[in-house]
Amino acid sequence: MNEPKHGGCQCGAVRYRANNLRDNSHVCHCRMCQKSAGNFFSAFVGVPLTDFSWTRGQPSVFSSSEHVDRGFCEACGTPLFFRHDKSSYISMTIGSFDHPENIPLKFQLGMEARLPQMDQLAKLHDKGTTEEDDADGAIAIKSSNRQHPDHETSSWSSALENAMAQPVVFFDIAGPDDAALKSFYSSIFGWELDQAGRFSVPVATPIKGAIRKDPTEKRIYMGVPDVSACLSLIEQSGGTVDAPRFEVPGVVVLGLFRDPAGNPMGLVEMDGDVPHVP
Ligand SMILES: [Zn+2]
Ligand SMILES: [Zn+2]
Repeated sequence: MNEPKHGGCQCGAVRYRANNLRDNSHVCHCRMCQKSAGNFFSAFVGVPLTDFSWTRGQPSVFSSSEHVDRGFCEACGTPLFFRHDKSSYISMTIGSFDHPENIPLKFQLGMEARLPQMDQLAKLHDKGTTEEDDADGAIAIKSSNRQHPDHETSSWSSALENAMAQPVVFFDIAGPDDAALKSFYSSIFGWELDQAGRFSVPVATPIKGAIRKDPTEKRIYMGVPDVSACLSLIEQSGGTVDAPRFEVPGVVVLGLFRDPAGNPMGLVEMDGDVPHVP
């Protein structure tokens, strides 16, 4: 185990390099390890201090007892190490390595606090991968993932600020005849508007979008079960059709229209809750 191994916290503010691992990878069930991990146990492997370096940032430290420091990322909270102040090595949390799967366990300790749930693990009902069990959730995670990747990066603006996609939280639709617009949107799309014209509508999460090269414009797309039927309703209600129903093979079915005030809008054909893919 003497090729360099890298690891770090979830947000990437703290990264480390271990040139050599001790042959002592283990799980500790003690109550202090449970609390410091917020979990059933901690898993550590020792690294000689002479073979260890922080390559980005520095962890914060909590001294959980007189001679023991436990380190964690101040920005994201990932537990990173355990160190006894008389020891010549530092114990790194195995899960914080970029490739924990390459560090097999050798023993367990702290058995006085080992939780009864441990015996359940091998027999638990298997709900499959996140993609299988929670397809929408998996997409939402991928599209907004702020976790540092499992490899070294030459620069990483971790961050919690920079990588955050700002959400769409509001939109409005304007025209000279607001009464006509209110009636148009409430009758065609079932939006419930109050006297002032305010409304709340469900939105696909995360909402998808695209920047395209075209004359300046923005469109909001409503999901409907039948684009052609909805376009004819739109025309009967004072709107106009910019583009009749068309298919983008393998991607989506669309229709484009303008509301009675001339605002450009779009329709996406849905199969239930998800866009129909032609
Ligand atoms: Zn972090
Ligand atoms: Zn412990």
